[in-house]
Amino acid sequence: MKPFRYERAGDEGAAVALAAAPGARFLGGGTNLVDLMRLGVETPDVLIDVSRLPHDVIETENGGVRVGAGVRNSDLAADPIVRTRYPALAQAVLAGASGQLRNIATTGGNLMQRTRCAYFQDATKPCNKREPGSGCPAREGEHHNLAIIGHSEHCVATHPSDMAVALCALDAVVHVVGADGSRTIPVVDFHRLPGDTPERDSVLEPGELIVAVELPPLPVAAHSRYRKVRERASFSFALVSVAAALDLADGRVRDVRVALGGVAHKPWRATRVEALLRGEAADEARFAEAAAVELEQARPLRDNAYKVRLAHATLVRTLVELST
Ligand SMILES: Cc1cc2nc3c(=O)[nH]c(=O)nc-3n(C[C@H](O)[C@H](O)[C@H](O)COP(=O)(O)OP(=O)(O)OC[C@H]3O[C@@H](n4cnc5c(N)ncnc54)[C@H](O)[C@@H]3O)c2cc1C
Ligand code: SF4
Repeated sequence: MKPFRYERAGDEGAAVALAAAPGARFLGGGTNLVDLMRLGVETPDVLIDVSRLPHDVIETENGGVRVGAGVRNSDLAADPIVRTRYPALAQAVLAGASGQLRNIATTGGNLMQRTRCAYFQDATKPCNKREPGSGCPAREGEHHNLAIIGHSEHCVATHPSDMAVALCALDAVVHVVGADGSRTIPVVDFHRLPGDTPERDSVLEPGELIVAVELPPLPVAAHSRYRKVRERASFSFALVSVAAALDLADGRVRDVRVALGGVAHKPWRATRVEALLRGEAADEARFAEAAAVELEQARPLRDNAYKVRLAHATLVRTLVELST
């Protein structure tokens, strides 16, 4: 591993100032970044430890919740407010990694974790995300677990975070601070589609620090769930996942939120499903119809067409469960 300097930031301002150094990277729990450093994929000169910066889950004045970027995944999943008002978020976090990893991984780091595409993780292989312009061997090579929606000729990777899928469905926003001040970014817009710049996973600018994620007061979120389909029962990333929230009145859909994971370069907010279901009868046939319309956008690759059927079935099953 390339030698690097370690700094611990005392506060957000100090972290942002330290991030101006060439080759600087923020360090959360290190469960992804340090792995990638060992593989030679990441080669920072300076690591700025921000894992002790805001690490509380606080109820906001309007009845939402603000989660500090340093909150460990285990603490987030165990928080009583999160468990009762945003159960899909607690379930999504618990569906990721292992107990040991969740004890150390942070909220900010989880959002910023890199793709698990095998070519990205192998520094001896070409990869447009790691080395722009070098090519995308996954398109013709190993891609059975990669994207079916929103990919480009330059990259077909998926975003690996379970937590981000739930945050996307539940209308969360990311609070960031950088050299030019602070701003908020809806989670739905935080991660990007690859286009011709797949090296950029998110809209975060270099040196910008995530300080918190905020969930709005959202009554429908109390009736939400996260369902993840994977190749083995634990310690495995999603082939497909669904975060959904559903509120019914007299058998009709009063409110609904849906996002898909494992299908795109970002958590995929299923806006077509939401638009087609609002005000409609809550029955399996409608759910199936809406899911099919959403998935008309899918452009599966040679070996991952199974994900279209899997996403459809997982989405319908999750909505049926929420409606009964
Ligand atoms: C074996 C294994 C299995 C896993 N399975 C799953 C799974 O099933 N589902 C899943 O979702 N995840 C899974 N993970 C990934 C795990 O969730 C992530 O590694 C973890 O959430 C990253 O958090 P961290 O704090 O350790 O981030 P770090 O590794 O410290 O950082 C990751 C990235 O975030 C950046 N960063 C960190 N904090 C900030 C901040 N505040 N502002 C801006 N940038 C920041 C870093 O610079 C780095 O680029 C798995 C990991 C392993 C090793
Ligand atoms: S899919 Fe993306 S991450 Fe994977 S090899 Fe292609 S460019 Fe690299």
